[in-house]
Amino acid sequence: MFERRKTKQLYIANVGIGSSFPISVQSMTNTDTRNVKATVEQIKQLEEAGCELIRVAVVDKQAAQAIKAIKQEISIPIIADIHFNPELAIESINSGVDALRLNPGNINNQEAIQQIVTLSKQKQIPIRIGINSGSLEKEFSHLPIVEGMVSSALKHIKLLEDFDFNLIKISLKSSSVPITIKAYELLAKTVDYPFHIGLTEAGTLKAGSVKSSIGIGHLLIKGIGDTIRVSLTENPVEEVLIAYEILKALELRQHGINFISCPTCGRCQIDVISLAKAVEEKLKGIKTPLTVAIMGCVVNGPGEAKHADIGIAGGDDKCVLFKKGQIIKTVEQKEVLDLLIKEISSII
Ligand code: SF4
Repeated sequence: MFERRKTKQLYIANVGIGSSFPISVQSMTNTDTRNVKATVEQIKQLEEAGCELIRVAVVDKQAAQAIKAIKQEISIPIIADIHFNPELAIESINSGVDALRLNPGNINNQEAIQQIVTLSKQKQIPIRIGINSGSLEKEFSHLPIVEGMVSSALKHIKLLEDFDFNLIKISLKSSSVPITIKAYELLAKTVDYPFHIGLTEAGTLKAGSVKSSIGIGHLLIKGIGDTIRVSLTENPVEEVLIAYEILKALELRQHGINFISCPTCGRCQIDVISLAKAVEEKLKGIKTPLTVAIMGCVVNGPGEAKHADIGIAGGDDKCVLFKKGQIIKTVEQKEVLDLLIKEISSII
């Protein structure tokens, strides 16, 4: 629907990144990576929610070594997040990591960069250059923030290209929606590497979801973005769920239930809010794409939700079940939740 910006392609293990692949969803654990059990547990919850790539913080050698044990227990590719320390990158590669997040310009040692690049090339391990507006190098502080972020990215890219390395993806994050958008749009004019898009420190569930939806959504509409991370001060599972809501809203990916529910009005004859929440809860974790509608009245409900695969609309003391806008059954209100779940289960 929206023309994707043409990019180079790369693979993180079996997940393709770039314009010819679906836009992938990723997240980052907030456990101590050295605690293998807790980290694996969280990654499994994220996998269940649909996370396709997971990043872990590598703070020391023990964390880098833990990647080996974590990798054996999980099914999605794992990315090591490293700041400054080249030894941790090498240790992570030796532990079997699938990709790195590392800014080579922050490593003041050409030999170490070369070693990382050589190993990454041998093992086909992509490197994400991650620019954050809050930690921009001093050398770019004289520039307007957007130009500074893009110049910083270009500096890191050149360092890798000088070693003939091009398994690169890039992020340019800020907690500001306009800055993030402008930075990605500016860099998109210059390079054709795939982009990891998202905001950083976007905030708590509500505010962060709105900011991320606007920022990521705007970029996706412009065709920019190959993998996304919604960054929230929350359980990371929520990040994955919101990421899919953004992709579903733009009809870029299908994933699980697409909910339609009416805002309610004076015609409403059932407790739509409680019913919609109960249905959403019961259908959590379902991956089959299906549009489900919960509407407050029979007057406008089925018509308003005619694109829904299945739905219910409230009546006086009865509710109607409808499929694709056509009423197919009338039931008592107290039976409606169980019936709807039963019908959905039979479709799935
Ligand atoms: Fe009002 Fe009925 Fe529309 Fe819900 S479906 S907003 S109750 S008219």
